[in-house]
Amino acid sequence: MTPLRAGRVFALMLLLTIAAQYLHEAGHWFVYQALGRQPVWGFIGVVQVWGETPVDVAGWTPVVSRSGESGWLRVSSDVSGPVEGALAAAGGPLASVFGALIGWVVGRWSQTETRRAMGVGLVLTTAVAMGLYYARSPWRTGGDEQDIADALGIARWPLDAGLGGYFAVIFGMGLRELKPRRARALWAALALVSGPLIGITLAVADGVLRQATARGDPLTVGILGYSLPVALVGVVGVGLLWVWSQWPLWSATQRPG
Ligand SMILES: [Zn+2]
Repeated sequence: MTPLRAGRVFALMLLLTIAAQYLHEAGHWFVYQALGRQPVWGFIGVVQVWGETPVDVAGWTPVVSRSGESGWLRVSSDVSGPVEGALAAAGGPLASVFGALIGWVVGRWSQTETRRAMGVGLVLTTAVAMGLYYARSPWRTGGDEQDIADALGIARWPLDAGLGGYFAVIFGMGLRELKPRRARALWAALALVSGPLIGITLAVADGVLRQATARGDPLTVGILGYSLPVALVGVVGVGLLWVWSQWPLWSATQRPG
């Protein structure tokens, strides 16, 4: 494996990590859209501010967190009741579950080596992003699973354990599709680096976006329920993935150089 080829795998991993995060958020976004809540979505959740009031509160809804903190969500009204609450919280994890599964199917059965590599990459990046999240669950308060548990009046740990186990298993299943075998350690390592790197980057970008939206910056206008910068990054990301699928830069089954 040449450094150049490793660099290409890393670039693909970064791109697919963004795709995995977008898929997760799209799951939440879809439920809010389906429930007619007119959301404006950020990079890591619906646009929201805490402990301050937006300059113009039109399009925002005041909410109170579990810990009693008051904030504002960029929705026409908040989801209400156990069914809506559970659906809105479950949308993201479910999208990640299906995203990883579809990645595995593509990684195993797609006709072209490039698409198989991209499928495996989606499995690994999704599993790392979600797996690291569940690994932190004993130290975390809140989160999607807490919201589901609260809405349904059940304990959170079975959700954390079940979903964490699923992503651990599918991570291994994804790695098994990589040929040659010696590529496995590199791909696993690059997915593990890419996950936190993109996770932190999107969290920082989301903080900037929330502040700009609260100030009423016109560049944060919502398009189909996505904040403009989020929509633009999504379009560019899809475009780059399409380019990658057309002009293979690396494939999982290629002989190592
Ligand atoms: Zn989520």
